[in-house]
Amino acid sequence: MLRRLSGAIRSGLAELDRSEDEAVEAGSSASGPRYAYSRPDFLSLSLEPDEVTGLAGYNVSRPILVAGDKCPLPGMSGYAETINGGKSQRNEDQAQACQFWLSPPNSPAAGGQEPRPDAIMYSNFICTFEDCRAAEAARPVGSTLVTYFALFDGHAGDGASTYARHRLHLHIRDRLQQMHPFLLSALSGSNSTTAKAENSSIGVDDLVTGALENAFITMDQEIGKNRVAHKIKGGCTALVTVFLLGRAYVASAGDSRAVLCRGGQAPGRQLTEDQTPYNDRQRLQTIAANHPRLAQGEFSPLQFAKRLGRRDLGRRVLCRSAFVQGWFLKTVSEEDLLFPLITGDSKKSRLLATIGVARGFGDHDLLVSDSSIAVKPFLSCVPQVVPLHDCIGADDFVVMATDGLWDVLSNEAADAVVKDAVSQSTSNRCVIAAQALVGAARGTWQRGSQTPDSRQSGGFWRLTISDATAAPDDSQAKEAANGTAKEPPASLDDISCFVIPLGWLSKPPTPAEVPSADGDN
Ligand code: MG
Repeated sequence: MLRRLSGAIRSGLAELDRSEDEAVEAGSSASGPRYAYSRPDFLSLSLEPDEVTGLAGYNVSRPILVAGDKCPLPGMSGYAETINGGKSQRNEDQAQACQFWLSPPNSPAAGGQEPRPDAIMYSNFICTFEDCRAAEAARPVGSTLVTYFALFDGHAGDGASTYARHRLHLHIRDRLQQMHPFLLSALSGSNSTTAKAENSSIGVDDLVTGALENAFITMDQEIGKNRVAHKIKGGCTALVTVFLLGRAYVASAGDSRAVLCRGGQAPGRQLTEDQTPYNDRQRLQTIAANHPRLAQGEFSPLQFAKRLGRRDLGRRVLCRSAFVQGWFLKTVSEEDLLFPLITGDSKKSRLLATIGVARGFGDHDLLVSDSSIAVKPFLSCVPQVVPLHDCIGADDFVVMATDGLWDVLSNEAADAVVKDAVSQSTSNRCVIAAQALVGAARGTWQRGSQTPDSRQSGGFWRLTISDATAAPDDSQAKEAANGTAKEPPASLDDISCFVIPLGWLSKPPTPAEVPSADGDN
């Protein structure tokens, strides 16, 4: 009972968060996790923390938890998640969805003061376009509604993902609040405000992108500062979609992914790049080349087309440096025999033989195994930001999912699952789509089949849809050779997924609906 009460207090009172911030900054002896492990609030799970952990360990059934059916998410969006297949006792993915107002530029809450914490709405979401229009009519004059969805994929624990779930939207709100007068000025083209940028080429997209990038940076700095006091272990990716002023923006740091599913026959389109070490190669190589002491002479900043050995000394082999996209020939010298900065390709690439993502939050204390080489200087928390306003259609959806889904489902397969689910035209079609996507990636438990993973016994999770694109592994090759080929292995990772309809946001505000930057309409 006491734990249940304390959890409610933690989740509800942002004012206490601020007091705690001040206490920590003042050097108090606060210690222990600031946010207890739990699943997203919008799942409405009435479980004690120990029960949540117990649920996570129930890896044979791997139940799919859904949200958006009985407790609507913004825009009648859908959400689904499932725990990993035995990798950890806790689901290290986290999610958040909320709405908040940006206060009018000249209101008491603006102009450098913090927006009121109670402006954050975790429930009673505005669900339909009609609701949205009604809320627009009721909102404070000059304010702007922001709708926020986020996924965090934790690694080496759930500390960073749980912390970011509770904090990133606050930093995004603060940054957008600072930009609010500039946003309104850029949107209206008004010259009657002192908030107009001197450089007239700075548009709404530039301002929102800057707000998101700086919010991510602030988030990572906060994790770094509080990681000891609040025992924030590990790191996490971050994938965010925000809606404001009739536009949508996707921001991604890491290898979670957003895909745009178009209405009709139009194919789906990947919106964000998976920021693996392989895809972020040039940035990583530039750091290694400019700061050779970071790698302590243990890693080569160059990338070679094959793993080199002493027999290659003096030979000319294909190579890539930080400064070029393509390959060139280089005569191999002694220093080229160092371990590569980046090994593997695509999803299987590793940075410093340690980590499979190049961007995200946390990992401030991560070291290369058996060394004092710090990984953090090579990582970045700055997201890729993709504006969506030019391609929003009434029948379009954004799918946000952690890599547990994309490891086994192609963009095309996910697009097909969404198209099939939303064709049912029910009010909870996005919930059905999210559940179907997570179910497709998780697969089904097949008793008695061979298991290449010793953590599972008596069966194996296998895909059941025909167009899934799992990469063949050794066990599949053996099965094929023996004539006992089965369905491909399903995802054993944590899987989390939002399906967000863009239709209710597709109509941009009319000029009469756009408040002036002076907050006087
Ligand atoms: Mg994952």
